[in-house]
Amino acid sequence: MKRDLKKLASETLDILVIGGGAHGAAIAYHAAMAGYKIAIIDKKDFCSATSANSLKILHGGLRYLQHLNIKRMRHSIMARKEMMRLAPHLVLPLSCIMPAYGHGLRGKKIMQAALFLNDCISWDRNIGLPADIQLPPGFTVSKQICQELIPGIKTENLHGASIWHDTLAVDTERLIMTYLLAAERLGALAANYAEATGINMDGDGLYSVSIKDTFTQQVHIVKTKFIVNAAGPWIENLSSVLKSPDSTPQKWAMALNVIIRKRIFEKHAVALEGNNTYEDKDAIIKRRKRLYFFVPWRGYTMIGTDYQASTANPDCLQIKREDIQNMIEDINTIYPPAQLSYEDVSFYHAGLLPMTQSREAGSDNIQLEKNSQIYEHDKKGFKGIFSIKGVKYTTAPHIASELIHLLQKRFSPAKTVEKKQPVLDNHWQPANHEISKLLKGKYGPQAARVAHYMQGEQSDVWVDKTAGFLKAEVDYLIQEEMACTLSDIVLRRTGLGTAECPSRKILEKIAAMMAAILDWNEERKKKEIEDVIRRYSPLILPV
Ligand SMILES: Cc1cc2nc3c(=O)[nH]c(=O)nc-3n(C[C@H](O)[C@H](O)[C@H](O)COP(=O)(O)OP(=O)(O)OC[C@H]3O[C@@H](n4cnc5c(N)ncnc54)[C@H](O)[C@@H]3O)c2cc1C
Repeated sequence: MKRDLKKLASETLDILVIGGGAHGAAIAYHAAMAGYKIAIIDKKDFCSATSANSLKILHGGLRYLQHLNIKRMRHSIMARKEMMRLAPHLVLPLSCIMPAYGHGLRGKKIMQAALFLNDCISWDRNIGLPADIQLPPGFTVSKQICQELIPGIKTENLHGASIWHDTLAVDTERLIMTYLLAAERLGALAANYAEATGINMDGDGLYSVSIKDTFTQQVHIVKTKFIVNAAGPWIENLSSVLKSPDSTPQKWAMALNVIIRKRIFEKHAVALEGNNTYEDKDAIIKRRKRLYFFVPWRGYTMIGTDYQASTANPDCLQIKREDIQNMIEDINTIYPPAQLSYEDVSFYHAGLLPMTQSREAGSDNIQLEKNSQIYEHDKKGFKGIFSIKGVKYTTAPHIASELIHLLQKRFSPAKTVEKKQPVLDNHWQPANHEISKLLKGKYGPQAARVAHYMQGEQSDVWVDKTAGFLKAEVDYLIQEEMACTLSDIVLRRTGLGTAECPSRKILEKIAAMMAAILDWNEERKKKEIEDVIRRYSPLILPV
């Protein structure tokens, strides 16, 4: 994948996708699969906003049974399956457990029925998937087993627990890159650090979109038949030119997860009820509590999600020490054996999500929007412009296929594309088994491409062996995955810094390699390192 804004500007596109989060990337892939000439741009790096901050659970939608929304469940199940097929190395089964209390709606009998329905509704969830990532049916366990799996859990009225499987996108950023690389193989163009700053309607039925190169400030004009605004929390910045002045502004909630430097539970993601009363306005079967998930992830635990209404500018979303502190206090009352302190937090993930309202009564009163939406701006005179309001990473592929159906009704692409899924290059077997395993686990079908950049003696291939990071990765990521900054490599392409700030020594080593390839001077190198470190503020970083 080469960043070439001049080339992009020299083409007349069928579709320009603005925003390289989960929705933009899935749309780029689906559009390229359908044969459209398509390009995708992001004003920062791909997957650098909301999509990088999710709890990483790709839901099968068990909880939507509360809303009796079978359609939404099916959309989640099919979208999840697409991601499992496309990236079986990144989307892995996640065993989840939720304690059952009393004999009512939170009891074991109701849960048994819900699990049975869940399995029926997802009857085809494993068809066509590799055996090692297939999802087994749900079941319930006794109180004793529940206590063994969740030691120290509140036992009053406890009758057992339900266990089911969702999936965990172990690296949400690489999953998006997998979509982009697959789209590129089908002819899509892509550019990061390319901001859409203006849209003009031409007389010839085309739009001219001004795209600013955020490194050089140079503006390129791209011509396109259709525009998809998949700008996440910036959706209104772009669509303000497309909206009538009386449109109600979207409300946003800030969602926060904390990353804990230890595994609280080894095998299962544990769902525990929050302290505050929470009334899900749309639920037909109301549990009256929000669930917090404790998700084992790499050597860490992700815990979330906490919500608060927000009017923050998405360009400078800031988490305060007290936000993290409050969440830690809540977690310690939800699950006292966790005994967490502020120092246990290695990182946090936060982003803005569309909400419908935050009512006055109670403290947990945030009502998130439940359904992603596609807005057609045709009626306002902007034919061929669509805005996407996405509410779940999981369902991005579903929204993408819905959008392509809409587009196909208006315009058929000139070419047809053979619908081939990228496959893992299993024939590639480098001499070193450890390196082969590492690269296949991270890069899946791209592993052989990364290995192509390996040079020199076996003893000299590592940037850092303990972190499992190879020098060849730096070369590959710059040359073939458009990594332009140190943050791109540390926070998005490799997962090196997505759970915790890497040591300064590692940052300096990678920055030095990047400087040699990209011709950075000392000042730029320093700035790149500081940019990474600043991302972890207000946490106390180990020296
Ligand atoms: C804390 C948290 C936990 C979550 N947990 C889950 C979960 O477990 N499972 C799940 O399914 N979902 C979860 N979600 C929801 C999910 O992450 C989001 O719904 C989804 O990632 C939104 O994707 P998006 O592509 O719409 O937006 P984003 O990921 O925000 O992407 C929008 C992109 O547009 C770019 N952009 C904006 N303006 C311009 C412009 N003018 N020109 C070019 N580019 C532009 C931005 O730089 C950005 O990269 C969670 C979200 C949060 C915050």
